[in-house]
Amino acid sequence: MVHPICKRALETWGETAQMLMVIEEMSELTKEILKNINRHKDNISEIIEETADVEIMLEQLKANYKIEQEVIEYKQKKLLQIEERLNQWKKAE
Ligand SMILES: [Mg+2]
Repeated sequence: MVHPICKRALETWGETAQMLMVIEEMSELTKEILKNINRHKDNISEIIEETADVEIMLEQLKANYKIEQEVIEYKQKKLLQIEERLNQWKKAE
């Protein structure tokens, strides 16, 4: 379920602006992760903010491409593959 405010933002500001915003927010989160890992910065509050921003934009991306259900299904499949790999990992230890 896409949050109604996310749907409204997409309808109000349009596909182009909002899909560019997805990229912008992802790059902001990328930057904060790099600061944290490479420069050992104490920026957890920025990471929280940018993670929320990215999640909000990903909701709009899913609404825009009408792929909410497909993403849920693929994610489920992918998690099972990861679980399988984790189980193998444990056996190799
Ligand atoms: Mg941001």
